[in-house]
Amino acid sequence: MKIDLHMHSHYSDGELSPEALMLRAKDAGLEVVALTDHDTLDGLPQAQSAAARESLILINGIELSTRWGTIGVHVVGLKLDINSAALQQAVAAQQQARVARNVKIATRLEKLGARNVYQRATELAGGTQVGRPHFAQVLVHDGMVKSVAAAFKKYLGAGKAGDIRQQWPPLEDIVAIIRAAGGVAVLAHPAKYRLTRTKLRALVADFAAAGGGAIEVISGYQPSGLAKDLATLANEAGLASSCGSDFHRPGGIWQELGRFEPMPDNARPVWALWPELADLAGAAQGEVCNSLE
Ligand code: MN
Ligand code: MN
Ligand code: MN
Repeated sequence: MKIDLHMHSHYSDGELSPEALMLRAKDAGLEVVALTDHDTLDGLPQAQSAAARESLILINGIELSTRWGTIGVHVVGLKLDINSAALQQAVAAQQQARVARNVKIATRLEKLGARNVYQRATELAGGTQVGRPHFAQVLVHDGMVKSVAAAFKKYLGAGKAGDIRQQWPPLEDIVAIIRAAGGVAVLAHPAKYRLTRTKLRALVADFAAAGGGAIEVISGYQPSGLAKDLATLANEAGLASSCGSDFHRPGGIWQELGRFEPMPDNARPVWALWPELADLAGAAQGEVCNSLE
């Protein structure tokens, strides 16, 4: 069984439509996928119809931004009831927070000489989430910098004028909302927060205490041994293990759909008890997550 439980479409910061993403997942030999766009459920209906046509099992997912103390932490929600009022309210609030931040960034950049920044960034985003790459393009177009990379270096990167911190909700609030929507909360890419071992243990403990269900022991390509190490951490906290590519766009060799190592043998897969997977070979035992071929 080939499973990939973390990927993005153009409804957030991915490049492909949900339909193209499902076709690519099928081509990659995947059987079970979760679409987990940042702070939006909007791509899921299109993904569901495409998945049905391709005989793929699609798990309704999302990736929600939260804060744990002063640290930004991403939480994936899986097997969500997308009609949950609590979830829809939380998603609307996340979107409003993104807009408020973007307006602040635009105002700062206008003070530095750019014109009509918010509207132009929104147009560049073309109906998808506006982000700093769009602001960077505006600055390039206005001749304030020569490249997107230079725009980040001079205006948008850490400590620069356009570096506005987002105030996301606390981790435990988001976990509660995912659970209220019938879903499983998964701590996304734990190694990406660059925490010390002690801090990471504290994060995992807080996440478990809040009602979290699993942690991503595999997130795309990663150092060998990390998956097993994270699965041990998950097991100790009474959490299951998940895996996903965190695919955003075709092109690089990194983070292609479904291209990552098999689940470590000590992992307890989050999907082991999901009834929709009971008919798939090995699902009950959670034998295989994926394989590099
Ligand atoms: Mn992203
Ligand atoms: Mn993330
Ligand atoms: Mn992601």
